Amino acid sequence: MPTPTTVAIAAGWLAEEPPLPDRCVKHGEPAVRRATFAVRSHPRTSSRKRAFQPGYTSLNRAEEYACQVKLVKVSGWPLCRSCVRRRTIASTLAGVLFFGGVLAMIAGLVAGAVDDGPNHLPLVPILLGLAAVLLSPLPLRRAGLPRLARAAATADGSAVQVTDVSPAFTAQLPARGLA
Ligand SMILES: [Zn+2]
Repeated sequence: MPTPTTVAIAAGWLAEEPPLPDRCVKHGEPAVRRATFAVRSHPRTSSRKRAFQPGYTSLNRAEEYACQVKLVKVSGWPLCRSCVRRRTIASTLAGVLFFGGVLAMIAGLVAGAVDDGPNHLPLVPILLGLAAVLLSPLPLRRAGLPRLARAAATADGSAVQVTDVSPAFTAQLPARGLA
């Protein structure tokens, strides 16, 4: 097993929208699609202790987070066939969960309206449908572009750090693109 490699790409270089390698980060396979998205940093907000101080509200916390989070735009990120497939499966799954859930809720409501006896069964499809709708964003989050790209911005926003990079991707990065 090769050791996991991390590469830091300079944000200034990315801002020039240079041609990025034509191999995907994860599989090292040829790119079949290019994607543009924003990579964010993951700032550490104040410790829990401070959150319980009087006068320090969750609004302060959200504000602090918003000030600290840095966004770096990435254009033309390579995605290989497997990466694209993974995204397609995720969005299909999300769609099935969402619309299946909505249909189950409608079916439960209709069944409840038709049957006016003391029957609590329609509650089951309604609750299952609601659960499916609430869970539907999960597969999308798992196959989100920053996640797929294994990328996160550094705390100061000066670079995009990519973890576990395929050597095929790194080999095509010019020296001046490295942070
Ligand atoms: Zn891939």
